[in-house]
Amino acid sequence: MSNVVSYELVDNIGVITVNNPPVNALSHSVRSGIQNALQQAQDDDSDAVLLICEGRTFIAGADITEFGKPPQSPSLPEVLVSIENSKKLVVAAIHGTALGGGFETSLACHYRCAVPGAKVGLPEVKLGLLPGAGGTQRVPRIAGVKAALDMMTSGNPISAQAASDMGLIDEVIEGGELRGSALNYVRDLVESGAPLKRIRDINIDPSSIEPGFFENYRKQLARKARGQIAPERIVSCVEAAVTMPMDRGLERERELFTELVQSPESAAMRHIFFAEREAARIKDVAGDTPVRDIRRVAIIGGGTMGGGIAMSFANAGIPVTLLEINDEALQRGLGIIRKNYSITVKKGKLSEARVAERLELISGTTSYLDLADVDLVIEAVFENPDIKKEVFAKLDSVCKPGCILASNTSYQDIDDIATATGRPEDVCGMHFFSPANVMKLLEVVRGEKTAKDVLATVMKLGKKIGKVCVLSKVCYGFIGNRMLSGYGREAQMLLMDGCTPAQVDSALENFGMAMGVIAMSDLAGLDVGYKARKARKDLPADPKGYIVADTLVEMGRLGQKSGAGFYQYDPATRARSSDPEVEALIREKAAELGIGQQQFSDEEILQRCFFPLVNEGALILEEGIAQRPSDIDVVYVYGYAFPAAKGGPMYWADQVGLKVIYERICEFRDRYGEQYWKPAPLLERLASEGKTFAEWAASND
Ligand code: NAD
Repeated sequence: MSNVVSYELVDNIGVITVNNPPVNALSHSVRSGIQNALQQAQDDDSDAVLLICEGRTFIAGADITEFGKPPQSPSLPEVLVSIENSKKLVVAAIHGTALGGGFETSLACHYRCAVPGAKVGLPEVKLGLLPGAGGTQRVPRIAGVKAALDMMTSGNPISAQAASDMGLIDEVIEGGELRGSALNYVRDLVESGAPLKRIRDINIDPSSIEPGFFENYRKQLARKARGQIAPERIVSCVEAAVTMPMDRGLERERELFTELVQSPESAAMRHIFFAEREAARIKDVAGDTPVRDIRRVAIIGGGTMGGGIAMSFANAGIPVTLLEINDEALQRGLGIIRKNYSITVKKGKLSEARVAERLELISGTTSYLDLADVDLVIEAVFENPDIKKEVFAKLDSVCKPGCILASNTSYQDIDDIATATGRPEDVCGMHFFSPANVMKLLEVVRGEKTAKDVLATVMKLGKKIGKVCVLSKVCYGFIGNRMLSGYGREAQMLLMDGCTPAQVDSALENFGMAMGVIAMSDLAGLDVGYKARKARKDLPADPKGYIVADTLVEMGRLGQKSGAGFYQYDPATRARSSDPEVEALIREKAAELGIGQQQFSDEEILQRCFFPLVNEGALILEEGIAQRPSDIDVVYVYGYAFPAAKGGPMYWADQVGLKVIYERICEFRDRYGEQYWKPAPLLERLASEGKTFAEWAASND
């Protein structure tokens, strides 16, 4: 027997126990261990077999480290055939999270029981894959085609109760410990003479599927696919489950799984999966650094960001106090939070009771004295360095020793802000993204003097409130917004050179961006960039990159919030539409500046917009602002909705080829001027050496 799978007879039940910490992943030794144990059970005195796991979870999924390596027999599908064809009843007992191959293993069993806290799911789509061990064939046979598709194309796990309602779990075992209750359940099945229920024996009646159902489902998916191909392949597999016998369906599933494993989309999504985990590691901070206890948090400023940040903490069960300048501003801030929660209730995503619990955790104040006892303060007041320093000086005087003082500033110098306090080691940046209760990215900004335990604490806390954390050192705009400036500038330049806002945005959206950069600036508010520009002294004299945006702000067109910006917005649906007035304004401004307008291909639009991201990313790496290129990818995928199926800007650049990018940047330099296009030395070096950012990172780790 393998050392990660054991087998024993408990009375008349053969018990196969998997013990492969930390999550009982389906490594080769687990697969062969189950196979052997099952074989043994066929020949002994057992009447039935129980498959159960030690530790914190049932088999949580495939062993992702085996991806890309030559397959070792037995493969998971082979093991599942043995389970399904066992002449003795096989029952899976699920606790923790049975995901992917883990859940598929349970589906090959004849019955499934689960504790109420268990979750099951098929998250393969999140790695650009599909459930490749029969999931696409078995789930629709029990749960129905629509429910199966929703489950597999979203990849989201569901509770044991929901799975039971869908027929995917036969028994939710209440009370008692897992093993004892599961054994009782198996005994009951044996005593009642329960039949060997093989999901493969169920046939889906094709006439039960509405005509056009699959076509419509595909159309819906295409709208949000953003470059992903796996969701569509999942539909093809489920279609096969309806139209083909089980074995042919399994073959189809294998064929499409193999296609996806080898696809660039899946490779990019797997890159992001690992990059996200890697980003949490700070190179010079030991993983076991003791962290500070964060029990109470305060937010200064209850505006757009402060309210969203407060919700993020309340959602994670952490009490939070919101401080505003006066009662009116406070009530407005709290009112927006309540309104946001009520929208979530209306959408059916949260119950009234849950919202009440969360609101209970949010209190308001106008007095700094109420902050004496908090463990972390996040400042989210106006983006003005003097106001911020005033706030930090006050915090320094009222907050207890050891309290972490963080700023949500988008651009200001954290080191300068820290000078307003007598404890710069406790100061850092926590840069959330808007809407802060939804967006997953958190840039953790490390000041010159920020203590290592402060960083370790904030990284851990960020994860607790559901964020993906990336470390950035101090520079103007940190990783994300610093890179954005060239991206945004080129989009504006393209308008002056002859594109309409809709052309630029549709090229970006066809590439897979959730929203084009011009529509995004409308969403963020054009006044935000306007104010930032007015506060900067080092803008190039050439107004080509911002003249239209500035004029729109001066016309009162601030973006979505004022109903119009680069686009006009439907007040009810917020749907955007092109505005001929803006297009005329662009032409007028281009003529004023003597710029001749011309046509651009989508490819050139992408190069103009994305190559500055890559070039600035290279500078950020050389300066040590970001720890590694994959951190930059995480920032862009989670903070700026860069398509995960393209892997983030630095990964994408490696695929395009750094030499190609370098040469094109040189052409743009010659055409548009060196103040905009100056190849980063690192990009130039890697291009000449024929290397990638990934290779550079590996040699720097
Ligand atoms: P906002 O104008 O919506 O809110 C600022 C709030 O701070 C207002 O409610 C104001 O009353 C309050 N305030 C001002 N001075 C104060 C003081 N001295 N004490 C207490 N409260 C005070 O601004 P916002 O968009 O929420 O931005 C806040 C910060 O977050 C800025 O530093 C901004 O750069 C940063 N940020 C904004 C975004 C975004 O997309 N809006 C994204 C990331 C970071």
